[in-house]
Amino acid sequence: MKNLSTICLTIVLIFIILPKTFSQQFNIPTELFSRAERTWYQETSLNADVKAFCEAVGRLSNYAHTEVFGRTKEGNDLIIVVLANPKVTSPAEAAATGKPVIYIQGNIHAGEVEGKEACLQLTREICFGTKTPLIDNQIIIFCPNYNPDGNDKLSATSRPSQDGSPLLTGARVSGEGYDLNREGIKLEAIEAKAFMKNIILRWDPALLIDLHTDNGSWHGYTINYAPCYKSAGLDIITGYVKDKMLPAATLSMTNRSGIPIWFFGNLTQKPGELPVFSTYSHLPRYIVNYMGLRNRMAILSETFSHDSFEKRVLSNYLFLVSILEFTNSNASEIKKIIAAADAETIKTISEKGGIIERGVTYRIAEADKPFPLLMRETEEYKSEDGRVRRRATGKLYWVDSVRYFDHFLPDKTAKVPYGYIFPAELKGIADKLQEHGINVTVIEKRKVFEGEQFIITKYAKETRAIYGGHNPVKVEGDFRKGKFTADKGSYYVDMRQPLAWLVFYMLEPESDDGLLFWNFFDEYLTLKGVENGNIPYPVLKILKPY
Ligand SMILES: [Zn+2]
Repeated sequence: MKNLSTICLTIVLIFIILPKTFSQQFNIPTELFSRAERTWYQETSLNADVKAFCEAVGRLSNYAHTEVFGRTKEGNDLIIVVLANPKVTSPAEAAATGKPVIYIQGNIHAGEVEGKEACLQLTREICFGTKTPLIDNQIIIFCPNYNPDGNDKLSATSRPSQDGSPLLTGARVSGEGYDLNREGIKLEAIEAKAFMKNIILRWDPALLIDLHTDNGSWHGYTINYAPCYKSAGLDIITGYVKDKMLPAATLSMTNRSGIPIWFFGNLTQKPGELPVFSTYSHLPRYIVNYMGLRNRMAILSETFSHDSFEKRVLSNYLFLVSILEFTNSNASEIKKIIAAADAETIKTISEKGGIIERGVTYRIAEADKPFPLLMRETEEYKSEDGRVRRRATGKLYWVDSVRYFDHFLPDKTAKVPYGYIFPAELKGIADKLQEHGINVTVIEKRKVFEGEQFIITKYAKETRAIYGGHNPVKVEGDFRKGKFTADKGSYYVDMRQPLAWLVFYMLEPESDDGLLFWNFFDEYLTLKGVENGNIPYPVLKILKPY
């Protein structure tokens, strides 16, 4: 019994006294230790903890500026901490430094909590610890808790396949019921609107890192990652992240910790065939892919849910450090690449608008050669509720030859025009484009132009609703060339702008993730009788400069 008492007392000392003593020794207040740290990784940080942390770091650090960038349906603040040396308090000050802005977001799915904890811990270490050099050449913005309405809805069933602690985690969706990682195009959720208006359009991050936890295949990695997959955008953006940034971060992570990390995928195997590892999607509804269409870089990070909570947070922390060391060392190159991507976009449209084609739907494609893949041995066991479950035995092994499907190729293409024109009554479309920062103008007087119009011959609406009550629309039809008239007051989108690839994806009628797909044209098309016969899609394409 004496031994047990000693153990209990030691635990109490570790839990309560040690953080206090440590914080007093280094003059760091207790709120700058995450709830995960303070509870020995039994609990995750609540909204109040994150808020107290962000406010304290903004008050106490010479490098941190704390900002509220929105308020959720349930009245929670959306908070960022901007870290810079010297400190900056506005986007204008950040832009004047010439340094790239790196935006790191945790908790978009509030059951996947380790990114949130890693953001808090790394913020503290940059402000008060040994990681201050990470802000020598770059500005880092942390949004530890992007889904606070989901965060405090604690439940033991949010992440049922997650091993061990924290027992209680938040809900996946936002307070309005949105999956915030499907908002890339439609921007309906309060959080997504605030993110676009106050993060993307104000701070213009060169790189976004989105932190998740995956409960897919039993591979042997602690983190899987993915670049912003290329669809209609540019090779230089995806190529830099995929071929340079991620391999460098992987090497650095391996050297510093030995923790294995690799690209994202799900494993399937049919008897007698090589195993197949396939990544997820090219669709820009996913925020990481969306960034690529803006000529900006992005990384998806997925920690492995069957690892312990402590290991998940630690590996997330080390992965962020590894990426940030790379971006800090290559800050000017990153700035140059995104500036070159913007310039190349305008040049491409100016010289080849109306000629070149880009994909409007895509299929997943296989890498040149098979890869070795690290796997985790598992076994079946009977859990307390009598169900047969699977668990890791602790043994890792390599599968030598795995077919890896790691990129996307166009299935169907369409011409990229000089510009798009649509009627004044579609103000909602103009507003949505402008919400993304796209330049839309109003035609001052009636114009005749040569162009292309899509005639819808088949209109199909899914009966099953997805993501915020949408019934996706798919159309078939043909483009018809001709002379068209645009009335005064019509909207014009000149494609000679950096966001041209995003405009293309949003406005093409056959796009697999465009505004038509997401029901933004339903009302107009129904009024025109789309269900009764062939009608023209109201967005016209200009194929020659006018
Ligand atoms: Zn997720």
